[in-house]
Amino acid sequence: MLTVENVTKKYKKLVAIDELSFRLNDGETGVLLGPNGAGKSTIIKCIAGLLQFTGTIEINGISNKDLDAKRQLGYVPEVPTLYDTLTIDEHLEFIRRAYKSDNKQYMEDLIERFELGDKRRKLGRELSKGMQQKVSICCALIHDPSVIIFDEPLVGLDPHAIKELKALINELKAAGKTILISTHMIDTIEETWDVVNIMMNGKIAATRHNTDIMKAGEKSLDELFFEITEGRLDG
Ligand code: ADP
Ligand code: MG
Repeated sequence: MLTVENVTKKYKKLVAIDELSFRLNDGETGVLLGPNGAGKSTIIKCIAGLLQFTGTIEINGISNKDLDAKRQLGYVPEVPTLYDTLTIDEHLEFIRRAYKSDNKQYMEDLIERFELGDKRRKLGRELSKGMQQKVSICCALIHDPSVIIFDEPLVGLDPHAIKELKALINELKAAGKTILISTHMIDTIEETWDVVNIMMNGKIAATRHNTDIMKAGEKSLDELFFEITEGRLDG
């Protein structure tokens, strides 16, 4: 479960996140959909505990500032930030030990499914953007978190890795994980989402649940998105 309540984040005078609230129940997959600059990465960094904010964020009912909450959270940043001089193996081993996970087999499984096996000895700085992204995803999952947030995860991946990642997200969902994915591309949203929050100017402008039956005359997600982002609807 992920709870965001009345969160505000300012960068000096700029209000990047404005009294934002939303909630994902256990096992739910949520999408934050919004144009560049809407505040997706900012709220995700607040959730990941990388930025100071006002308001409340809880992971499974525990404040995200608490170590117990951090243990239950996996975070895939928008831009992978690897260590230049650690190999892929060393990255995964380091993160695995930092989280005190004994599950070496899961680490091997992740390496295999992202086809990193033959590159295990390559250094962070020697990897392409796509490969760094794959390592970053593995690092986020290695401690088997129950809440996982992905910031624009498909950007920079090749078609095979996109397919793998989508399959992996479906598996994580089937395993009951709570997942939050941000994207600015409406056409990358899969049918697996449970709830989409359309973000604009640091606020949620509209919410759609997958279970909602489209009523006659109701706008599709596409229509809603373009109306909001092109300024034809009020907040
Ligand atoms: P998104 O991920 O939806 O594209 P961001 O969360 O990155 O949006 O940005 C939201 C707003 O905050 C934008 O106006 C952006 O320019 C601004 N912003 C983001 N990071 C910083 C920062 N470190 N310092 C100042 N302004 C920032
Ligand atoms: Mg972003």
